[in-house]
Amino acid sequence: MDQDIDILISEVGPRDGLQNTKQFMTTEYKKKWISAAAAAGLREIEVCSFVPPKLIPQMADAAEVVAHSLSIPGLNVAALAPNFRGAQSAMEAGVHKLTLTISVSKAHSLANVRMTPDEAIASAKKICAFRDSLPKDQRPIIESGLSTVFGCTLEGAVSEDEVVRMAVASVEAGCDEVGLADTTGYANPEQIRRVFKKVRAAIGDKLSGAHLHNTRGLGLANVVAALDVGVTTFDSSLGGLGGCPFAPGASGNIVTEDLVFMLEAMGLRTGIDLEKLLALRKILEEGIPDEPLYGYVPLAGITKGFVPATRH
Ligand SMILES: [Zn+2]
Repeated sequence: MDQDIDILISEVGPRDGLQNTKQFMTTEYKKKWISAAAAAGLREIEVCSFVPPKLIPQMADAAEVVAHSLSIPGLNVAALAPNFRGAQSAMEAGVHKLTLTISVSKAHSLANVRMTPDEAIASAKKICAFRDSLPKDQRPIIESGLSTVFGCTLEGAVSEDEVVRMAVASVEAGCDEVGLADTTGYANPEQIRRVFKKVRAAIGDKLSGAHLHNTRGLGLANVVAALDVGVTTFDSSLGGLGGCPFAPGASGNIVTEDLVFMLEAMGLRTGIDLEKLLALRKILEEGIPDEPLYGYVPLAGITKGFVPATRH
């Protein structure tokens, strides 16, 4: 973590958001968005996922988007990969951080990547070994992004012991970090505190961030719960982009604008300029005009006399 911020916000809209939108965003608009987000003070952006274009056509320009992102000074360029092939392409493209999606729910894992959770761990081990065979300056940080940690639309409740086991297995496979994702928007604040504590007890500071969805409106409450137990990295997406295909009308990731407002108002520095961040929505309104955008602060405006913790 940089010295001048308290919380790292990792913008995942270009990946998690666009992966779930119906409308296609052109490469030009993606580049514009990523550049403007970095200029607003975002330090880490998950810019794409390396998946077969046949499955997700929106990500067909992944390598080009990464190349553009790498040209932005100081930006930590992250990408997601579901399997070895994708991970290899991401490393060839030169990403700084690679997140592997590993689902704790067996049913979700099979549906999503056609591997059981244990097979996904074996794949992660192969990916980490490949990474370690590269020259030192070409090795990305590898994060195990554990998904469906707090509940699954297919299986319902997910065993917390299983979450801990998968976190430990991820570290043993060679992953540098483990993040916990509420992929389905099932989590509640008490559960967030309990599960993050359990996982930290097992893997210590290898536990990285929280990836929360706002599907049932508990996103920011869950952020506060995660703050309570020492989490300092959060994923979010501009305009809560992406929605949820299984819950019409429900937003996707937690909304970056609302998250930054809350953290800055609480005295926690994000390094992000809220006015510039709000102005970014224009790029989405132009680039994907039919997609609904979410967020309360963009509608209500910044409070009068607002003093952000981050000084610009
Ligand atoms: Zn997500």
